[in-house]
Amino acid sequence: MNKTLTDVLVIGAGPVGLFSVFELGQLGMKSCVVDSLDIIGGQCSSLYPEKPIYDIPAYPEISGQKLIDNLFSQIKPFSPKFILGERVEKITKENDEFLVFTSNNKSIRCKCILIAAGNGAFGPNKPPLEDIEKYENKSIFYHITNKSIFKNKRIAIAGGGDSAVDWAIELSSVAEKVFFIHRRRKLRAAPHSVEKLFSLEKEEKIKTIIPFQVHSLQGSKGEINTLTVSNLDEEKIDLKVDYFLPFFGLSSELGPIKEWELEIEKNLLSVDQSSLQTSAKGIFAIGDICDYPGKLKLILTGFSEAAMAAHSCYKKIFPDKVLHFEYSTTSGIKKL
Ligand SMILES: Cc1cc2nc3c(=O)[nH]c(=O)nc-3n(C[C@H](O)[C@H](O)[C@H](O)COP(=O)(O)OP(=O)(O)OC[C@H]3O[C@@H](n4cnc5c(N)ncnc54)[C@H](O)[C@@H]3O)c2cc1C
Repeated sequence: MNKTLTDVLVIGAGPVGLFSVFELGQLGMKSCVVDSLDIIGGQCSSLYPEKPIYDIPAYPEISGQKLIDNLFSQIKPFSPKFILGERVEKITKENDEFLVFTSNNKSIRCKCILIAAGNGAFGPNKPPLEDIEKYENKSIFYHITNKSIFKNKRIAIAGGGDSAVDWAIELSSVAEKVFFIHRRRKLRAAPHSVEKLFSLEKEEKIKTIIPFQVHSLQGSKGEINTLTVSNLDEEKIDLKVDYFLPFFGLSSELGPIKEWELEIEKNLLSVDQSSLQTSAKGIFAIGDICDYPGKLKLILTGFSEAAMAAHSCYKKIFPDKVLHFEYSTTSGIKKL
């Protein structure tokens, strides 16, 4: 089993979880950040990377993704360990420390936990196909990290939003064939992308199969060979494909957080506002997931909570040390 030893485990790599790495680092604490997605950035990167945000102090306007890129640069000096694409499942207590397990059975031993889990763990919406998990990350992908594997391959892409349309356009230049499947005639993607999709169909680079939806799949040892699609008249088409890319968006669920025996109300973790501690000693919650009277679900509020929670972690981890408050202009960037 892969084991990590750290001072503070940060659950969630959204803007607030990322900024907490900075605040912890400035107080001399190492951190490990886990996210169920295999990209950092939480809601900013997953839901609105291109949208401008107007209420980040000192940035009259900054896009969701640029904010995350900047936060990533800001925390680089502290070299946090990232475990991405894995959900934190289980928290156990051992003496005064925690032993935490991920969905991939990695373990993290830490002295404090910062839960910055937003609305819960993000994951892809999956089509209801039997045995789909046997094909996942082999011939079925919910997002693309390496497009070279699709060179000269036959690919089916399903979905009607920007991801589905943009990837169909992008991969049509390398793949042997791209089938584009959507259950409704109207696509939700940007109009200029939809126009491009249909112009590529005229050039026979893409074949649209609309209005059809995925019905079943066949293959062996994780390798898909046939994807069957059907329409409302129960007409079926067998597509010979090497890869299937369902792009049905993301959803979030609190999932395991509900099992951690923390005080929870309306899907939010109740915290003491002055320390951000949850109902369990050494476990703190910050950002969208935490609640207290007057809470505002804003990124800037989460940043402030990250600073306060880092001070709370310091008190728990170094109970005998007196913390001398310093401005960053005085301390500079601390070395870990
Ligand atoms: C369209 C839109 C526009 C917005 N505009 C603004 C704006 O203008 N200004 C503003 O201040 N706010 C805005 N917000 C809200 C802002 O994005 C959130 O307040 C912010 O993202 C909260 O940050 P967070 O780090 O607390 O959580 P999130 O960004 O939600 O990140 C939480 C992360 O935790 C991960 N996670 C959860 N549970 C687990 C687990 N068990 N194991 C592993 N990982 C887990 C999730 O996968 C996720 O990546 C907007 C939100 C949306 C959707």
